[in-house]
Amino acid sequence: ILDTLSEIKAEIAEKHVELLHLQFVDLEGNLKHVTITADQIDEAVEGKMMFDGSSITGFCPINQSDLYLKPDLNTFAIIPWSVEEKYAEARFLCSIHNPDMTPYEGDPRFVLQQAMKRAKSLSYSISIGPELEFFLFKTDENGNPTTNPHDLGGYFEPAHDLGEKVRLEIYRTLKAMGFKIEASHHEVANGQHEINFRFNDALTSADNATTYKWVVKNVAKQFNLHASFMPKPVQGINGSGMHVNISLLKDRENTFYDENDDMQLSNEAYYFINGILTYIEEVTAITNPIVNSYKRLVPGFEAPCYIAWSTSNRSTLIRIPAKREAATRIEVRHPDPSANPYLAYAAIAEAGMAGIALSEFPKAAVHDDIFSMTESERLEKGIKHLPDNLETALDLLENGPLAKMVLGPHVFRQFLLHKRAEWHEYRNTVHLWEIERYQMKF
Ligand code: GLN
Ligand code: MG
Ligand code: MG
Ligand code: MG
Repeated sequence: ILDTLSEIKAEIAEKHVELLHLQFVDLEGNLKHVTITADQIDEAVEGKMMFDGSSITGFCPINQSDLYLKPDLNTFAIIPWSVEEKYAEARFLCSIHNPDMTPYEGDPRFVLQQAMKRAKSLSYSISIGPELEFFLFKTDENGNPTTNPHDLGGYFEPAHDLGEKVRLEIYRTLKAMGFKIEASHHEVANGQHEINFRFNDALTSADNATTYKWVVKNVAKQFNLHASFMPKPVQGINGSGMHVNISLLKDRENTFYDENDDMQLSNEAYYFINGILTYIEEVTAITNPIVNSYKRLVPGFEAPCYIAWSTSNRSTLIRIPAKREAATRIEVRHPDPSANPYLAYAAIAEAGMAGIALSEFPKAAVHDDIFSMTESERLEKGIKHLPDNLETALDLLENGPLAKMVLGPHVFRQFLLHKRAEWHEYRNTVHLWEIERYQMKF
């Protein structure tokens, strides 16, 4: 990883980098970029590149729309698919500043940095390892995406088909951009895949998740496939999750590990689990932000619907993977890859940290399959369910204190505004299901 300007400039000269893409994300986590020539690098690094914030979802009002990009030198990467013998392109992920050089409060990176700062004031640093699943779909004769998977493979299947080739190419591309890849495999559903990269500090992991989605889509396109991170693109089969593995470090030590405990978990780990169980519904609109997110959170597809924790049970919201010592972590299983990773990681960390502030132990772990319990059995065990549609999730977000604190007033307002509009549009749409079900009957 190149992190000083002089190293970056040497690389730019050596690899004949001609264009630089200055990238950032909007409220929804969608990648944007403006392209400059490599000889403008000094101006860019000084934060002099301006753009119109009023044209970006969730950013400024039209009357105060000048914003500036500040490249994060740690995120410099040559774009592997642009490289030719005497030509290349590179990119930076950027933070966003106001004209007076103060950080812009609508920047999702800033939201996550604020959460990291609050953790730091309690001597914690947040470590995140996300797992983003995706589908590869065929495109039609016009190049438009379909929902037909490109293969018939299943979990861990070593298919000798296109999927394997695409995954290999994604792996190589990410590796060339500095990712440490830990595993790459076919997922449960036909056409579904997952490539895991190493955990890191929360900001780096959110940057990596952003880069990963961009790379996966680009590489798939090179094979005439469409990569989709939609949470539930095909009814009746598994959806795509973004499981978030999280731990808190103190002086570089994992605070979730305690060798003397029955489960080798520390009090901090238990409090953090309790925080997630107690507060997660207030921020589920952030971790599962689209109408379609809630079609994934239904019984039977390895995605959670109930607010409980367990060691190995994949029907619960939280699972504690078997790894201990430095790798002790909590896996939060309901987020999906349509979430803005910066906002989602901030929300999960703050829910857990609110639990540490509360310092109470969680209810007993649930090792039985919750999907097969009756409602009264669940009530008896005090197991609540996650919000089951976007509107309920938005009500919980609006009425609890947590999201407002995590997002800050600007993003909180903008998020509700955009998401309420999305729900309203969905609510007003007459869907194909309704026509098929009712047209002949009534
Ligand atoms: N696809 C499942 C989900 O929606 C996870 C399946 C798995 O990772 N084995 O979360
Ligand atoms: Mg996984
Ligand atoms: Mg998986
Ligand atoms: Mg997982």
